[in-house]
Amino acid sequence: MKQTREFAQQLIDFCYASPTAFHAVATTRELLDKSKFVQLHENTSWKLKAGGRYYLIRNDSALIAFIAGTAPIAEQGFRIAGAHTDSPGFRIKPAPEMLAENTYLKLNTEVYGGPILTTWFDRPLAIAGRVALKSKDPMQPHIRLLNIKRPVCIIPNIAIHMNSDANNGFTPNKQTDTLPLLGMITQKLEEKNYLSKLVASELRVKENEILDFDLFLYEYEKGSLIGSSEEFISSARLDDLSSIHAGISAMCSISKPKSTCVMACFDHEEVGSSTMQGADSQLLSEVLERIVLGLKGGRDEYFRALASSFIVSADGAHAVHPNMGAKADPTSRPLINNGLVIKLSANRSYTTDSSTAATFMQLCEKVGVKTQRFVNRSDMRGGSTIGPISSTHVSIRSIDIGLPMLAMHSIRELCGIEDHSAMLKVLRELYQN
Ligand code: ZN
Repeated sequence: MKQTREFAQQLIDFCYASPTAFHAVATTRELLDKSKFVQLHENTSWKLKAGGRYYLIRNDSALIAFIAGTAPIAEQGFRIAGAHTDSPGFRIKPAPEMLAENTYLKLNTEVYGGPILTTWFDRPLAIAGRVALKSKDPMQPHIRLLNIKRPVCIIPNIAIHMNSDANNGFTPNKQTDTLPLLGMITQKLEEKNYLSKLVASELRVKENEILDFDLFLYEYEKGSLIGSSEEFISSARLDDLSSIHAGISAMCSISKPKSTCVMACFDHEEVGSSTMQGADSQLLSEVLERIVLGLKGGRDEYFRALASSFIVSADGAHAVHPNMGAKADPTSRPLINNGLVIKLSANRSYTTDSSTAATFMQLCEKVGVKTQRFVNRSDMRGGSTIGPISSTHVSIRSIDIGLPMLAMHSIRELCGIEDHSAMLKVLRELYQN
C-alpha cells in the first residue's frame, strides 16, 4: 500500500513537471539518464549491442526508449508499449496581446484538442512550452524550454446574474469567451510587447533573439491524492502521462530482457496524430527497423521480428461515472481501482481482438492484476487512440488498454492509485516475456 501511494505521488510530481509535451519528454529523459540510457540521434549511424539501453527524441516532443534484447531479435521480436505526451488545452496565438476596456490585457489563444472548456475558468493558470531563438545556423534554431511556473493568468467566469444559462448548457465561444486575463495596463498596447518581454526575462535573453514560440496555458496548481483513504489521484494530464510514467518506470526497472523492449511516447494524439512525431507517422517503424539494422540484422530479420512482436497501446479509459452511470455500456462497467481496462470496438477504433486480449489477460494474471472491459454504448461514438493508427504503419499484434478514469479532458482528471501501480506491474511483465 505504501509503495502504491508512493508511486501515485511520483506520478503527481511527473505530471506537475510536465506541463507540455516538450516538458514531458524532458522529464522522461531525466528518468532515462538516471537509469543509464544513452541518447541516439537520427542523423548518426547506430551501433547497438544486446542489453544496451537507448533513447531517441524527435521534435523535442516525442521519445522512443528501448533496451536491446539478449535473444536473437528475429526470433524474439519487440515488446512495445505506446502512449502519448500531449494533452488538450490552450495554445497561445502569435501576436497574442489584446486589450479590453483600454486596460485589461488579454492573451489571444486557440484551443488544442478537445478540453472540457468550462473546467478552465477561474483557475490560476501558468504558461509553458518551447521558444525558438536566433542561431548562427538557420537550419538549427536555438531551442529553449520555458516554464513560467507562476499563476500569471486566469480565465474569469461571467457572473451568473449576467448569464442565466450558466447552469443550463452554457457553450463558451472559443474565440471570445475563453481568453485569459494577463494583467492591467496603462500604456497604449502598441508600445509594449508584454508576452515577449515576459519570455525574454524568464529565459534571460534579448527580446529580439526570440523568433517564435509554441506556448500553452496550464493549471498552476499541483495535483494531489484525494479521497477518504487517499485512493484517488487528482491531477492535470493523467491522460496520458500516467501511461508514459508507468511505461518508462517499467523500462527503467528491468535489465537485460530477452525481447527488445520499447516505450513509444508519441506527440499530437489529441489532434489526430498526423505529424512527423505523431503515431500516424513512420517514427515507430523507422526506429524498429534501425534497431534491427543497428544489431547487424537485415530487412528479413526486421520482418521476422515484427511477426513475433506485441504492442500494448496504453491510454486513458472511461470509468463508470458515480453520478451518471447511464452514460456507460449496460454490461461492461469499468470501475476505478478495479483493474486495467481492455478497450473493444466493433468498428475498430480500438485494435483489441480476442487473440490479443487473451495475451494481455494472461500477462495480467501472472502479476495478479485484474482486467475490466470497456465498450461504448451503441448509441455513442466514443474516442479513439494511438493503437489503430500506429498498427497501420507496423504489422504487429496490438491491444488497446488503459487506466479507468473520470473527467477525461477536464483540466483535472481523476484515476485510482491501485490502477497506476497495476499498469507498472503489467508493462514490466510485458517487457520480460
Ligand atoms: Zn489519451
